[in-house]
Amino acid sequence: MKLLDGKTLGSTIEEQIKQEIRELNQNFIYPTLAVILVGNDAPSASYVKMKSKACERVGINSLIFGMPENTSEEFLLQKIEELNKDLKVHGILVQLPLPQHINTQKILETIDPQKDVDGFHPLNMGKLMVGLDGFIPATPLGVMQLLEAYHLSVRGKNCVVIGASNIVGKPLASLLLNAGATVSVCHILTKDVSLFTKEADFVFVAVGKIGLLTAEMIKEGAVIVDIGINRTNEGAIVGDVEFDFVAPKCSFITPVPGGVGPMTIATLLQNTLKSARNFAKDMK
Ligand code: NAD
Repeated sequence: MKLLDGKTLGSTIEEQIKQEIRELNQNFIYPTLAVILVGNDAPSASYVKMKSKACERVGINSLIFGMPENTSEEFLLQKIEELNKDLKVHGILVQLPLPQHINTQKILETIDPQKDVDGFHPLNMGKLMVGLDGFIPATPLGVMQLLEAYHLSVRGKNCVVIGASNIVGKPLASLLLNAGATVSVCHILTKDVSLFTKEADFVFVAVGKIGLLTAEMIKEGAVIVDIGINRTNEGAIVGDVEFDFVAPKCSFITPVPGGVGPMTIATLLQNTLKSARNFAKDMK
């Protein structure tokens, strides 16, 4: 069994980005990411902090807009419109989840698709489905880059994605399909997930439940990508896979932490850099 080391790959990608940003700075282009955080959700605040620190490491300006829990939808929409027009801002990210009284879909659809570095706008989602260039959500993009770095091709392989959210499972399934895999997507209503996973060459788990994927559910030599992030009662961060039992049976596996998480950060930075480059091209 080999570990898919997202921490090391993420650092390597960050080094490349840093270099490219230095070059852009010489042409007076300063990649800038605006991050909006509404409310007091502790995990959201910590993700925003992580993203902002990562921006700092590579030389991307991050502008954090913290707003109270009772922020109105109208105010948030106005802020996004303002950032859409701001020529100094290349990427806009609204940290999810938003408070209940705000229509998340409406917010995501208001972000200029050219600044949508999270890739959650329906236009970018549609481009992803048909294989056109656009912004791809950071986590699925990070997963694909991790597989590529280890020369693990999904072409012609049986892939199972467990979890079908708009931000992870569905876009990952599209990327795998576009890469030539045969893809099954399991979710909360799937009667027997193991029927699918037992036949899978690759299993991707993005649910958010400790111990969801057990050794009995996979075939010998499968590649396991654990996207889940959970906190145990003792405060440790773990994934959705029973790592100690699954690891000896598989060929490759991502650790949690240190697998998909750092790749998600690295690909968000890549998307911001891509947006800044696109804007620079349009200005010429
Ligand atoms: P979500 O709650 O939006 O979606 C969860 C999905 O899992 C749903 O499609 C649901 O139907 C499915 N599901 C729930 N219980 C199931 C079960 N028993 N069997 C099969 N499917 C089941 O979650 P999300 O935003 O997609 O995130 C999923 C996990 O990935 C979470 O743990 C989250 O923290 C993590 N995550 C990690 C990263 C990263 O960078 N590593 C990024 C985003 C999300």
